[in-house]
Amino acid sequence: MGVETPTTGTAAVDRNRIAELTRAEMEKLKSRTANSREHWERAKKVMPGGVPSSFQSIEPWPIFIERGEGSRVWDVDGNEYSDFHNGFGVVVVGHGNPKVAAAVQARAPLGTHFAAPTDGSIRVAEELRSRFELPQWRFTNSGTEATMDAVHLARAVTGRDMILKIEGSYHGHHDAVMVSVYPELEELGDRDDPRSIVFGEGYPRALTELTRAVPFNDADALEAALNKLEGQVAGMIMEPAMMNINIIPPVDGYLERVRELTSAHGVKLIFDEVKTGCTIARGGATERFGVRADMVTLAKTTFGAYPGGAVGMTEEIAPLIADGAYHQYGTFNGNPLVMAAAHAALSEVLTPDAYKKLEATNEKLLSGLQGIIDRHGLPCYPEGMAAKGCVIFASEPIREYRDYLQRVDGELATLAWLYHMNHDIFMTPGVEEEWTLSVAHSDDDVQRYLDAFEAFARDVTGS
Ligand code: PMP
Repeated sequence: MGVETPTTGTAAVDRNRIAELTRAEMEKLKSRTANSREHWERAKKVMPGGVPSSFQSIEPWPIFIERGEGSRVWDVDGNEYSDFHNGFGVVVVGHGNPKVAAAVQARAPLGTHFAAPTDGSIRVAEELRSRFELPQWRFTNSGTEATMDAVHLARAVTGRDMILKIEGSYHGHHDAVMVSVYPELEELGDRDDPRSIVFGEGYPRALTELTRAVPFNDADALEAALNKLEGQVAGMIMEPAMMNINIIPPVDGYLERVRELTSAHGVKLIFDEVKTGCTIARGGATERFGVRADMVTLAKTTFGAYPGGAVGMTEEIAPLIADGAYHQYGTFNGNPLVMAAAHAALSEVLTPDAYKKLEATNEKLLSGLQGIIDRHGLPCYPEGMAAKGCVIFASEPIREYRDYLQRVDGELATLAWLYHMNHDIFMTPGVEEEWTLSVAHSDDDVQRYLDAFEAFARDVTGS
C-alpha cells in the first residue's frame, strides 16, 4: 500500500548549490567508472551510442556490469552495488537465483530451442491463468511484442482501427504506441483534446492519428473521448498504475469506471502489466486493484530474468488466433529455456510468502525515506507498492503526465541518482524511473539506500 499519506517538505532549494553538487558528484562518478568509459569507447565503434538499447545510454557514459549475485551487482571497475535498478524491473528473483538456475541448467543439455511446443509452455500458461484471471495465453519475446499483439487483437476482434492510450505512457516501440509517449509541454494541446504526437523518427505519420491519448486518472475525460470517437475505437491500452513517469497509482474508482466505459462502448481494455505484472502482487494490478481487462500484457519480472513476454486474453478473443484470423507468430515464442526459467520463478520463487516479504521490505524503505524527507523538509515524497517504489521530486502528489511535466524537479532527481550511484546503490537513471526490489534484498540493502538518500538530503538542504 506504500506510505499511506506521503508528506513533502517545503525547504527552499538553492539552484546554485544543486548545480555545484551535481558537478562534483558527476566528477566522482566519472573517476569511479573509468573502465566503463573504456568499454564504452570500444562499444561505440560497433553499436550506435555504444549500447544494445537506447534506454541504456546515460550520462556520463553507460556503466558496464560484470556480474550479479542476489541483490548485488559488480561493475567492470569492481564497484559493488546494491541493485535497485534490477534490470529495469526484471530481476525480482534476485541475480543468479539458485532455483531458476537449476531449472535452466536441467533444461539446457536437453536442447534449448525447437520451435515446437513443449510441456513448459503449458505449465507457464497455466500459472499465468491462475494469477491474472484470463483463460488463454500466447507467448512473445518482449513487452513490445506483447503490446503489439494486444493492439492487433483489439483491432481484429472489433473491426475498428483506432487505439486509445494514456498521455505520457510507454508501451514498447511499435508504431501504434509510439505516440504521446513523452511529449513536451508546448506540444500537448488541450487537456480535453490532446494532440497525437509521434515519439521520434521512423513511424509513419499516416498512423499517428490512429492513436489518441487521454489523461490518466480521469474517467470523465475518457467518457468524453469515447463519446466523440463512438464506433471507431478498437482498444484502450494502459498501465493500471503508471510506472514510466515515476509511479502514479490509480485513484479510487478510476479503473472500475474505465472498465465500465470501455465495455459500454465495445472497446477492448488492455492492461499493460509489463511492469506491474508479478511485481505489485502475485497477479499484478489485476489482483491488487481487482479489475479484469480483456487482455493483459506481460514481460520483465514474469520470466524469471529471461527474455520473454506474453499476452493473456478472454475466451472471446482467443478464437481469432486459434482460427488463424490473426497471425500471432514468433520463432522463439515459448522458448523452452525461457519457459523453464519462468516456471521456476513463478512456482518456486515468487510465492505468496515472497510477496509478503517484498511488501515488508518496501514498507521499511518507504517509511525510512519519509522520515528523511520530513527531517530535512525536502520537497518530494515516496510512492510504492510491493517490489516497486520511488521518490517523486514534486511538492504535491502527481496524478497524471501533465503534473509530472510541470511539477517534477528533474535537477533534484538527477542529483539523487548521482548520490545513489556514488554510494553504491545501482539505480535506474533518468527522472521517470523507479526501483525494483528482489526477494534477495535485505535490511542491509535498505539501510544502504537510506544512507545514500540521507547524504543527499543533508547536502541539498545544507542541514
Ligand atoms: N510496456 C511497458 C509498461 C514498459 O515499461 C515496457 C518497457 N519498459 C514495455 C512495454 C516494453 O517492453 P520491452 O522493453 O520488453 O519491449
